[in-house]
Amino acid sequence: MEGLENKIIIAGPCSAESQEQLDEVVGKISEALKLHAFRGGVWKPRTRPNNFEGKGEEALSWMQSTANKNNVPAITEVANATHVELALKKGFQKLWIGARTTTNPFAVQEIANALAGNKNLEIFIKNPINPDINLWVGATERISNAGIENIGLIHRGFSVVGDHQYRNVPMWQIPLEMMTLFPNYPMLVDPSHIAGNRDLIFPIIQKAMDLAFHGIIVETHPDPPNARSDPDQQIKPERLIEILQDVVIRQKDTTIIEESLEELRAQIDVIDEELLNAIRNRMNIAQKIGQYKKQHGITIYQKERWSQIVQSRKKIAEQLGLSHPFLDMYLDAIHLESIRQQNNVMNPHDKKKNE
Ligand code: PEP
Ligand code: MN
Repeated sequence: MEGLENKIIIAGPCSAESQEQLDEVVGKISEALKLHAFRGGVWKPRTRPNNFEGKGEEALSWMQSTANKNNVPAITEVANATHVELALKKGFQKLWIGARTTTNPFAVQEIANALAGNKNLEIFIKNPINPDINLWVGATERISNAGIENIGLIHRGFSVVGDHQYRNVPMWQIPLEMMTLFPNYPMLVDPSHIAGNRDLIFPIIQKAMDLAFHGIIVETHPDPPNARSDPDQQIKPERLIEILQDVVIRQKDTTIIEESLEELRAQIDVIDEELLNAIRNRMNIAQKIGQYKKQHGITIYQKERWSQIVQSRKKIAEQLGLSHPFLDMYLDAIHLESIRQQNNVMNPHDKKKNE
């Protein structure tokens, strides 16, 4: 799992269903890797009523028990002030705000007020379900204004009408813009809610890593098909470990890359200066030729000489692997400047006009 040590990894079931379920998932994953936290939904925001709505308060206690046994912090979703109060009372230090909540500034403000003053908390904010970056920005500002310094962002895709390969379309440009607006907040990908099915989890994680995301939050269940929520998209802990072994983390050490980039850029700086000096020297000679032509009454433009130059330089450029269009532009620019400089010598009174 090379390169993953610098990434934030959160995994765990969509819903916290029982003590055993949590112990099994977190125990198995912790044998293979260090989790930043394990997830579990306690209050499930269901689109339609009469679905499993989470185990509520008692699940908070299971989660804390699993956290203590495995020495991994727990994280759960809060959607109102009561959730915040109950979770804080149970000792939760990490919470996330779900996609449906981020769409609603009143709900986010209520949560922000309930969080205010708790400096040690870490709060993750999912994108809103609709592709409106301002709702995501606004929610982030409200939580930040409540004095929370430790903020993370989660990209879980956007609900877009129409037939799509994804449950929630990624629209990668939106999280990337958030990363630019909030460069100090880590951006995690939630491939489970983007995909909606197990098969897409790996490629979505790989894509996010290639886009320099800072971590992942993945739904993981001991028996996915029998999960009480999101059965199609959850994966077994064993599969998560396998995926994380296969993921390629590019640009592991950006300082080395930056250093070699800096070196190459320094070389370009030196060469550009040498090129400009060489051109200046070429122009000095053009000026001398201008003086000579003036003394002998010869025109500046000598058609034959110029076509000789073009032919010979084209040969050189070809051997050096420089393209014809580039050479044409380069020779035109050199020729024009050369004529301008010679004209300054031959017609000094025109100098101003020639500038
Ligand atoms: C979840 O993480 O279980 C969840 C409900 O996600 P979202 O808010 O992204 O729909
Ligand atoms: Mn889910």
